Amino acid sequence: MHICVMGTGYVGLVSGACFAEFGMQVTCCDIIPEKIENLKEGILPIHEPGLQELVDKGLREGRLNFTTDQAKAIEQALTIFIAVGTPAGEDGATDMRYVDDVADTIGQYMHDYKVIATKSTVPVGTAKRIRARIEAVQPEPVEFSVVSNPEFLREGAAIEDFMRPNRVVIGGEDQHALAIMKELYSPLYLIETPFVITDTTTAEMIKYAANTFLAMKISFINEMANLCDVVDADVHDVARAIGLDQRIGRKFLHPGPGYGGSCFPKDVQSLAHFAQEAGVKLQLATAAHEVNQQQRGRMVEKITAMLDGNVAGKTIGVLGLSFKPNTDDIREAPALDIIAELQQQGAHIKAYDPVAIPAAQQVLRDVEYCKDSYSTCSGSDALVLATEWNQFRALDLKRVQALLNQPVMIDLRNVYEPETMKRLGFRYTAVGRRSRQ
Ligand code: NAD
Repeated sequence: MHICVMGTGYVGLVSGACFAEFGMQVTCCDIIPEKIENLKEGILPIHEPGLQELVDKGLREGRLNFTTDQAKAIEQALTIFIAVGTPAGEDGATDMRYVDDVADTIGQYMHDYKVIATKSTVPVGTAKRIRARIEAVQPEPVEFSVVSNPEFLREGAAIEDFMRPNRVVIGGEDQHALAIMKELYSPLYLIETPFVITDTTTAEMIKYAANTFLAMKISFINEMANLCDVVDADVHDVARAIGLDQRIGRKFLHPGPGYGGSCFPKDVQSLAHFAQEAGVKLQLATAAHEVNQQQRGRMVEKITAMLDGNVAGKTIGVLGLSFKPNTDDIREAPALDIIAELQQQGAHIKAYDPVAIPAAQQVLRDVEYCKDSYSTCSGSDALVLATEWNQFRALDLKRVQALLNQPVMIDLRNVYEPETMKRLGFRYTAVGRRSRQ
């Protein structure tokens, strides 16, 4: 079966490579020619564990192709996946320009029946919007179906999430299109993946409900951590104990600097926004967003407090820039806001990240980038652990201590044990871990 994927970002490229691995004939399209030229050579635009091997295999075996020739890719495919970005627009509304562009292109070049499947996270009503745009530009009336197939993969674990998802959601109004979609995912039936088959509006709603719930869980535990900091309780014990209640569950109860990335921040705001347009006020979504915004400021206060209330003229070493480990994605990364605020207050920043430095160089000014963790410590007045990459979990703490101007660590990911750090002679603080100095 021929499929076409519009957009070769985290979702489009991973989906394309995985569908090729499932045995489909896949053509991935993008509007950036150099991205496509590189991909033809097997050079990836993103860091994602396991993706290089899959792309190489797909290219080698001839099932995965890359092109900017959208007309041809649309012509050949029965199913066209839309996987372009849907960034936040004004007031939290979703910027739909990339989805609209793709819909117009499909409409112009479609000459026989197609299934158009939206993988991008799009507000409720988008399936109808895509249909209307296609109908408006079609040179001749051709039958087509629009289905919603939201993607739930996580960057850093995207291949595993695509190959072994918790569930697949497909929303559509006609049985023929649904049958084609189920056929595409047939390898997942073998591993008994649950399928939720529903209408397009409900499928669009599911993705926002899922992300907002997860965002709420993070903001909830961050609020508990902030309270633990003040009343001298340990949020890890709180999280573990409440998480052992199966109605709550243990995942996503890890306190820190708040959520980031290209999904949660924009999706929570987008849901609140389109709900409001529909006349419904979603108070929990709004609160999750507000708590998350404030959390970054709290982290800056923590760092400042550890440097006697004033960071001006001080050098601060920051470990981790990406919004989470195993990705080079820095979109809405807490580290970026925290660094910018510390610079604003007069601090000099040294920073290291295993893969995200090139991306950070595009947006941060006046940061001294380092070659590893230890050179980041060297000559710094404090060390901030901002992203929990595995290699930051087992630092040689004696060496860290010797390299720092003073043994101060602010652990925004709760990687280390407060007692151990105290015993080693660090002035150490974490998030909600009874580590107040
Ligand atoms: P991205 O920004 O990494 O990639 C989007 C790609 O689309 C870019 O390469 C861009 O050049 C290309 N593009 C733009 N207009 C195009 C057009 N007209 N034709 C062809 N290509 C075009 O985006 P992403 O992170 O992959 O996210 C894509 C969508 O999936 C978003 O809606 C996002 O919310 C959703 N999503 C993302 C994740 C994630 O972890 N990143 C997870 C689930 C869902």
